[in-house]
Amino acid sequence: MDANDIIEAISKNLSERRSAAALSNYGVLCNNIGHLNKSLEESLSDLVGVLDTATADFSSDTRLTAEYQHGAAKAPFTAVIPTILRNSLSILRKFVHRTAPDDRNGVTVDTVGQLRRSFDDYNELATTARQIVDSLVSDGYQMLKLDARELNYHVLVSLNSFDRFATRSLRQALFSQEVEDTLNEFRQLSFAQWKNSAITRCEQPTFANKVDHILGIVNPAKSPNLADTLKDLFKFSSEFTHIGYVSTFFTSGQESEIIFGDDQGPYLPSTENFSELKYEMLAGIIQLLADLYLPCLVRAFEAMLVPDAAAPLRKSLEAIGNAQREALASRNAEYYFFVKSGLIGSEASLPLTCKCGRTRNWEPPHNPSDLYCSSCGSSFRLLEIEGDGGYVFTSEGPIKIIGCDVPEFHDLPPDKQRSMLAKMNEAANNQDKS
Ligand SMILES: [Zn+2]
Repeated sequence: MDANDIIEAISKNLSERRSAAALSNYGVLCNNIGHLNKSLEESLSDLVGVLDTATADFSSDTRLTAEYQHGAAKAPFTAVIPTILRNSLSILRKFVHRTAPDDRNGVTVDTVGQLRRSFDDYNELATTARQIVDSLVSDGYQMLKLDARELNYHVLVSLNSFDRFATRSLRQALFSQEVEDTLNEFRQLSFAQWKNSAITRCEQPTFANKVDHILGIVNPAKSPNLADTLKDLFKFSSEFTHIGYVSTFFTSGQESEIIFGDDQGPYLPSTENFSELKYEMLAGIIQLLADLYLPCLVRAFEAMLVPDAAAPLRKSLEAIGNAQREALASRNAEYYFFVKSGLIGSEASLPLTCKCGRTRNWEPPHNPSDLYCSSCGSSFRLLEIEGDGGYVFTSEGPIKIIGCDVPEFHDLPPDKQRSMLAKMNEAANNQDKS
């Protein structure tokens, strides 16, 4: 291809957009989004509790390690870290708000246009994602470093940009003489000196540098692909924020859309495409929070506080991280249920209890499209079992066959449970020998 061939291919593609297709089950997708969005929202109130405890601890020298006590060199961090955490919480709150599942109540074919997603929506979502991914990583970096020069660099670069266009009233509200003096000192430095001077330092200047640096230290075994996910999310969302040609074209088409529908009502391909993006971003940000940001916060608390004060904070943060990981693991999974043969297609209502705790009563006529969890979006597969055994032995222990007249395994008396487990082991051993 020469240059002209290439521009021809580009111009053709940018002017004749292919008709968009919905690739997922939109209803299930919305449930999945609701599941992750709710989980992230719950972590916010838990983090506010952590912030309150830490702020109280920081105000008392007996709770602080020597370097951070009143008057010591690193004492300013006792004010800086809560501010950083508060800032992260504001951005997280905005992200939670922007990634709520679509509200389809009362949407009809006449009003389905309100579900159309276009340039404004994509731009808003991607910009929010860009902000959160960028700021959680750079906040995490500062929490790991707890280094005055690193923090100075970050704040002075930002102040220097802000000051360029700040109006008089803004300057008055924000800039004390002390800050003016600091900024003037910073401006004496050449651009090359910014990253390494007597007052400033930045060892990991780019987003990718910071991600690699942090993950090299906190090293989350459970998220081996986190570095790539974050770098990809950062580049993708930057493309939208910077109004790249491709993202702008993709989201600003004027053509009308085909109306799709499911049992909840009508929707549009752009609604579904947008939701898919929302879902992937939610999953990425939850991983970022659980496996990068929270571990950095734990390390900051452990450096700044005496062990007695740091331990409960660590425990709370680990619980928040585990709840987020649990929400990710339980979304959109596939669960198997064992059902007594002959019940599917009968008049019986079959209770299917998902791992997340929600029960779907699968009512006759047993429509296969209802075999999913309305809470976490997981799908259900049923295996029909002949006979009246009551339980099936699985790698997770004996499981009750739905439709058999027996209690749940964990509701059996302990001696009954023990004898059944012994039988199961025996059966497993016999199978190993054959
Ligand atoms: Zn579920």
